[in-house]
Amino acid sequence: MAKKSVKDVDVRDKRVLVRVDFNVPLSNGKVSDDSRIRAALPTINYLLDQEAKVILVSHLGRPTAENRDSLRMAPVGERLSKLLGRPVTTLSEVVGDSVTEAVDKMKAGDLLLLENSRFESGEKKNDPTLAKRLAALADVYVNDAFGSAHRAHATTAGIVEQSDIPAVSGFLMQKELDALGEALSNPDRPFVAIQGGAKISDKVGVLDRLLTLADHVLIGGGMANTFFKAQGYDVADSLVEDEALPEAERLLASAGDKLVLPIDVVVADDFSNEAQRRTMAAGDIPAGWRILDIGPHTVEAYQSILADAKTVLWNGPMGVFEMSNFAKGTFAIAETLAELDATTVVGGGDSAAAVADAGLTDDLTHVSTGGGASMEFLEGKTLPGVAALDDA
Ligand code: ADP
Ligand code: MG
Repeated sequence: MAKKSVKDVDVRDKRVLVRVDFNVPLSNGKVSDDSRIRAALPTINYLLDQEAKVILVSHLGRPTAENRDSLRMAPVGERLSKLLGRPVTTLSEVVGDSVTEAVDKMKAGDLLLLENSRFESGEKKNDPTLAKRLAALADVYVNDAFGSAHRAHATTAGIVEQSDIPAVSGFLMQKELDALGEALSNPDRPFVAIQGGAKISDKVGVLDRLLTLADHVLIGGGMANTFFKAQGYDVADSLVEDEALPEAERLLASAGDKLVLPIDVVVADDFSNEAQRRTMAAGDIPAGWRILDIGPHTVEAYQSILADAKTVLWNGPMGVFEMSNFAKGTFAIAETLAELDATTVVGGGDSAAAVADAGLTDDLTHVSTGGGASMEFLEGKTLPGVAALDDA
């Protein structure tokens, strides 16, 4: 069901509480990657242009009593201020007197950033009291935090459940839902899915769904090892999930030709970038060695299947791309997608990181900003943060 967007409500002069995903990496007290902040700018700029009173809230990391001061929102506010070219007031509470006072003083076109929502223990518990206090700050609620939409927390779900204020999606949320939703519900064909990453057990739901929807499902990454083992091969020291062998057998038996496994692999004598490495046909792996990437023949085979694809959905790196000697398969697939005349969509946190490492994020149709949320969406699960929003 389509959801109302920020364009469907009147926000002029209204207090608009926006749940953003500012869960950014910090190093030495500074934001080390601001892509999530930049991804929220279209919604923030639109609301400011519309003369709303904009109140932003996000979680940041996993605060505990010990690390709390290192997870304050202040550095995020500073970076946002630089990106917007205007001052941003960052409060040191999520709710409370200082927040109520600051909100009461807001004028049209003002911008406030609340403290880390997880400083309130009620956030993750979806505590109704916290949700009501947050809702009391606002006339309109906007959720632009796709990356947190798979969590039913006070800032993503409770605030809507505990109030009658309009609840709509922001532009980033809308873009994510459109891109991922379109790929799954109405793909131009051939529709090719690429599945990799560490484990089958993380991805069984996604694999099942893609095997029904896609024309081909190309496998890579650590998950291929469990399929190899299910076929009876010795994978030696490769990452493998014995407990997922029955699932792998079931998938192999039911998927037929749709499921395509690597034909060659890069193996290493240690889990290290400096390890000895060899390329060999998929099959029994010598004792003491492990599979860390797909091989060049597999890349070619996958390229020829991808050549006439009209929709490609990719989740999960093809190898241990964090080590440069085992990143070739992943980067080759990323480059192939970048050159295709097709809708190319990437989900999953590590996959997005790999595409960014390859410098190709802007060459694909859509790279999801939501790791866990994109996986649950691909599985067909209802995201509580989306379900809570008003229907269009
Ligand atoms: P995503 O976050 O995109 O959903 P995953 O979390 O499922 O992806 O998988 C990413 C991880 O899988 C990466 O850290 C990568 O190093 C690892 N990986 C890929 N191939 C292998 C392999 N052959 N052996 C061990 N780990 C692998
Ligand atoms: Mg991951």
